[in-house]
Amino acid sequence: MNDNEAQCSFCGKKRSQVGKLFAVEGAAICESCVALCADTIEKEARQKERQNFTRGLAKPKEIAAFLDSYVVGQTEAKRVLSVALYNHYKRIDKPAIRGVEMEKSNILLIGPSGSGKTLLAKTLARVMNVPFAMADAAALTEAGYVGEDVESVLSRLLAAANFDTEIAQKGIVYIDEIDKLAKKGESATIGRDVSGEGVQQGLLKILEGAQVYAPIKGSRKNAGAETVLFDTTHVLFIVGGAFVGLRDYVKDERVMGFARSGGEATKSKITPKDLVKYGMIPEFVGRLPIIAELEEPTTDDLVRILTEPKNAIVRQYEAIFELDGADIVFEEDALRAIAELAKKRETGARGLRGVLEEKTTKLLFDLPGSNVERIVITREFIEGKGEARLVKRRKQSNG
Ligand code: ADP
Repeated sequence: MNDNEAQCSFCGKKRSQVGKLFAVEGAAICESCVALCADTIEKEARQKERQNFTRGLAKPKEIAAFLDSYVVGQTEAKRVLSVALYNHYKRIDKPAIRGVEMEKSNILLIGPSGSGKTLLAKTLARVMNVPFAMADAAALTEAGYVGEDVESVLSRLLAAANFDTEIAQKGIVYIDEIDKLAKKGESATIGRDVSGEGVQQGLLKILEGAQVYAPIKGSRKNAGAETVLFDTTHVLFIVGGAFVGLRDYVKDERVMGFARSGGEATKSKITPKDLVKYGMIPEFVGRLPIIAELEEPTTDDLVRILTEPKNAIVRQYEAIFELDGADIVFEEDALRAIAELAKKRETGARGLRGVLEEKTTKLLFDLPGSNVERIVITREFIEGKGEARLVKRRKQSNG
């Protein structure tokens, strides 16, 4: 056969009619047929993934163990979340059992800034291998106002699922700073204008499970934006906030309860009633039956957060320096000094990155092109009382 006459064995198009033709002895395939086959394979794989969705469902203990490899401490919250996640996906698998319909249980995470609320929510999505999207409650507005409306949260989930609605509808959404929606008046300390309450109202139906039109691109207000009918019944909503004043209030109550009971420890957790007092509307609180509290990381926790999680920040810095041909070594006491500095910033584990960034900028500025092969970070260096120890490469002699 003449080369010019070669044709795709699948669609019959000639070489001159196709972009690329892959040929072996006696058979050939053109690039559009390759693409078509790849597409089919992918579609089938996705189909299979959907079918296997809950079959491989991890048990609560396995979920907790997975969380352990990414999140330090917060044992209590991990336990609550593991059970909640397990039940949530079990419920998707079997919406009703013996005629009993299982209601959706969204989750409220209460904990100071930088305690790992976002990280936990994100890691839960990773456990289940479902799409994840997050939003900031403070940026959400009531329909009709300038800003993001609540449906935009679902658009992000759709985007995270590559616009596969079926997959997106089983995703996890994290809404941060939910305490900023507290209405003023009830809470003397914190709260924002009336529209906070309006946003809580707006969130009610998507939290509960409803069919809503989600804009495919950004906000609904985009002229000519296309929308998709989105069912939120199986979306797990996790909302989080610091609820600063509230924690103090409940802690005081705890102390008073402790005194009243004659020194007997009374565990007073934050209750839905406390949240209403804070300015959350009862219907909103009612849709968040699971409440998990996170603790502020201690200095010891911060040391562990630096090094233990799978993508620990110190590992990340080691990689950054390695790319410039040097090993960076943190002495044990230097790690503690970093944790102590971060602790003073009162931004939880978030302070760690800031401290490391500040301390390493000059090193990273000087390193490229130098003959430094090893940098030892000491407590003195972190505290600004000395220099990092630099080990230089021995000069190569040629004989
Ligand atoms: P929050 O949402 O509570 O404000 P984040 O989850 O955003 O806090 O955490 C801020 C940063 O600190 C992230 O980089 C996160 O990885 C890290 N971090 C916070 N808490 C922990 C923890 N318990 N274990 C590991 N890393 C943590």
